[in-house]
Amino acid sequence: MIGRRLILSGLRKRYEDVWAVRDTNLEIEPGEFVSIVGPSGSGKTSLLTMIAGFETPTAGAIRIGDKDVTSLPPNRRDIGMVFQKYALFPHLTVGQNIGFPLKMRRALAAAPLKVRVEEMLQLVQLSDYRDRYPNQLSGGQQQRVAVARALVSDPPVILMDEPLGALDKKLREAMQFELKRIQQRLGATIVYVTHDQDEALAMSDRVAVMRQGELQQIGTPAELYGKPANAFVADFIGVMNFVPGIYHGSEGSDRIVQLAEGIRLRVPTAYDDRALALARTAAVHIAIRPEHIRLAPIGQSSDSAATGVVEASVFFGSTHVLLVRLTRLRDVVLRVEMPASKATSFINGTSVEVTFDDANLQIFPVKEELAA
Ligand code: ADP
Ligand code: MG
Repeated sequence: MIGRRLILSGLRKRYEDVWAVRDTNLEIEPGEFVSIVGPSGSGKTSLLTMIAGFETPTAGAIRIGDKDVTSLPPNRRDIGMVFQKYALFPHLTVGQNIGFPLKMRRALAAAPLKVRVEEMLQLVQLSDYRDRYPNQLSGGQQQRVAVARALVSDPPVILMDEPLGALDKKLREAMQFELKRIQQRLGATIVYVTHDQDEALAMSDRVAVMRQGELQQIGTPAELYGKPANAFVADFIGVMNFVPGIYHGSEGSDRIVQLAEGIRLRVPTAYDDRALALARTAAVHIAIRPEHIRLAPIGQSSDSAATGVVEASVFFGSTHVLLVRLTRLRDVVLRVEMPASKATSFINGTSVEVTFDDANLQIFPVKEELAA
């Protein structure tokens, strides 16, 4: 079956005194894989349970394909789902659990149903466990059964809430590839909730970032990483350095930020063209990724912005991350990423020139709080 379009308009959910989801508008294309990320309590599960039909929106509408499903019960929405709290049936075997959605809909006769279940068992590598009961499985195996059960009826829309959370790292990565492969083969539209941003970036066509019930930004992984809409997204997705400074207005096509006495940065608007309604002397943060900072021995750089001292060097396989404390901004310790081969010349205690890659600097107003 081909995936369907999913449209959320003005969707909100209030529980007693909290807005779990605030005015949310989202359009997901047929066959698209969209992840929803955000800190705990930001409304991810609430959003998903409304799409599934287990919670009623306080306001707004949900459309799947050309149907308004806002007031339809879950079983009439053509959705497959993996929710942590919708566990397996303990009295059914693995095979019976996986076949359950087909049986309930009387979708297939006994023989083809058996064939289909076998296919799914193979897909999640549990063929040898067909006749076991859930309590005879590990947490990871149970999650794979839940994934197989969600996919078995080939639904046009699949919702998953942390479906791989119980798996150890290796198996989780294997299942990420598997899910992605299945999705591409079946063409289903997938909405995938995870608190693991690496997982989201690796699997998704687009990622939606939520905070306190509010959608902050939706975009491709590259857009979120390279052009975060605000400081929260910048901080939440990947690693970001923030350096405090004072905005000094613009000169030509550059914005000027003073970081400390004698350290003035020019941030070309050609790269960061967001309209910033900043007053002169506004407190701002300069944001820059670890791979966009270069180091050089003192005196060997013509364009450095500041000087600092290497305080630590952390091994990450092919790359190293160096921690560099700025000389004139003693509170700022930058994370600087570089190939392992280059890092060897910057041992602890080395004084360095620090250069920011202009094209990748961004300015954010300080009043935007950062992620915890
Ligand atoms: P997430 O999945 O991102 O961790 P949730 O959607 O579970 O976030 O929760 C969002 C907010 O709504 C939280 O403040 C949570 O406490 C609240 N909430 C969620 N479900 C309920 C409920 N059934 N009753 C009351 N408050 C709820
Ligand atoms: Mg949740």
